[in-house]
Amino acid sequence: MRVYEILAKKRDGASLNFDEINFLVQNFVAGSIYDYQMSAFLMAAYIQGLDENEVISLTRSMVSSGDQLDLSEIPGVKVDKHSTGGVGDKTTLVLAPLVASAGVPVAKMSGRCLGHTGGTLDKLEAIPGFRVNLSPTDFIAQVKKIGVAVVSASEQIVPADKMIYALRDVTATICSIPLIASSIVSKKIAGGADRILFDVKCGSGAFLKGLDEARRLTMLMTEVVETMGKSSVSVISNMDQPLGFAVGNALEVAEAIETLKGEGPADLEELCLILGVHMLLLSDRASSFPEGKDILQQAILSGQALAKFEEFVAAQGGNPGCIDSPKILPQAQFVSEYKAKESGYIGFIDAEKIGCAAIELGAGRLTKEDKPDLAAGVILAHKVGDYVNEGDKLVEIHTNGADSVTQTEELLNKAFSFSRAKPKPQPLVWDVIQWGVSHDKCNDDH
Ligand code: URA
Repeated sequence: MRVYEILAKKRDGASLNFDEINFLVQNFVAGSIYDYQMSAFLMAAYIQGLDENEVISLTRSMVSSGDQLDLSEIPGVKVDKHSTGGVGDKTTLVLAPLVASAGVPVAKMSGRCLGHTGGTLDKLEAIPGFRVNLSPTDFIAQVKKIGVAVVSASEQIVPADKMIYALRDVTATICSIPLIASSIVSKKIAGGADRILFDVKCGSGAFLKGLDEARRLTMLMTEVVETMGKSSVSVISNMDQPLGFAVGNALEVAEAIETLKGEGPADLEELCLILGVHMLLLSDRASSFPEGKDILQQAILSGQALAKFEEFVAAQGGNPGCIDSPKILPQAQFVSEYKAKESGYIGFIDAEKIGCAAIELGAGRLTKEDKPDLAAGVILAHKVGDYVNEGDKLVEIHTNGADSVTQTEELLNKAFSFSRAKPKPQPLVWDVIQWGVSHDKCNDDH
């Protein structure tokens, strides 16, 4: 087999078979196919697309490029949750202890921030002492002991994705539905869960801005997961404005703790309940949506969910004192206010621009080597639909580098749009897709 011929075939729009795709992936990981050749494949795949069989082949080949976790030692149905990435998305910080406190084991491998979107591992590392690098043995032992662990995937889990993702990041080939599907599904399959919940973000702060493309990604992931012998449910959730108010690592940890105390922002709490109930349904812990919701609301009200968070943080070396004293979390040196430039209803908050503003303050990475400033970020004072007067506080800016504030304010100037009329509220969830069937809108009875 010759790499040149495979590239030419894809360039001309033909479908590749498993052997051809596997040849590319395995030789790339082994170092005998070079970055420029893999980049050519990725661009050809981006432009010509990959059909479903090619996505399945690519996913299988990526899974087999490294180790697969065996979670069979952990009793019960293991459900993993994956978010495709958003701004202010701290749901894992709430969901992992919440669902675990209801008796469902959560063995989760998470990622770091990507582009303008945040990453769970960076957020957890804002808790002093928190360790995300557990060995597979310690990871499984912790889930068996306390029901929850959230760790970084080892280098041996889907190494092909790490290498391919790094190339996609610099060759403008991230936003390809087939490449996103194989990247996400390969990691979930290798992670060893029995069932998977996808939180597919859709809107201005997501990689996929439109509902049609979010649905296409969801249907494709559902098909690939099923072909690989597992089942999934997908919630397509609204990312047209940041989730909650806080964007930035330590700021988001504090907001997640508030939510576990039952005092968090309404949208964050509602989305966590919806996703959490689907995890309970997938693991057979609940048999109906209202029953699942009741279990989770009780866990919050009784303090069980917060107690599980405390146990989880302590088990991974973190300081649980942050629950009662948020000042233990990294604090920015400079806090300033960004004020409304006009009066009116907030009609739109461009979540991507808010994510970029947080990166400008140091909360994310501009290069792979950057270390995020865990204290930096923004806290929105208002959400879409609120009425504000000119001069009211719109955003609180937290930074350790006062010189980044001007650039941040320029991004914030472009992030907010105002209207005279109160905008129509948008749903938090656009669609739920189960067994490849769209349930179109999510209400309490979906
Ligand atoms: N998240 C992933 O894990 N992979 C992608 O390709 C995009 C988002």
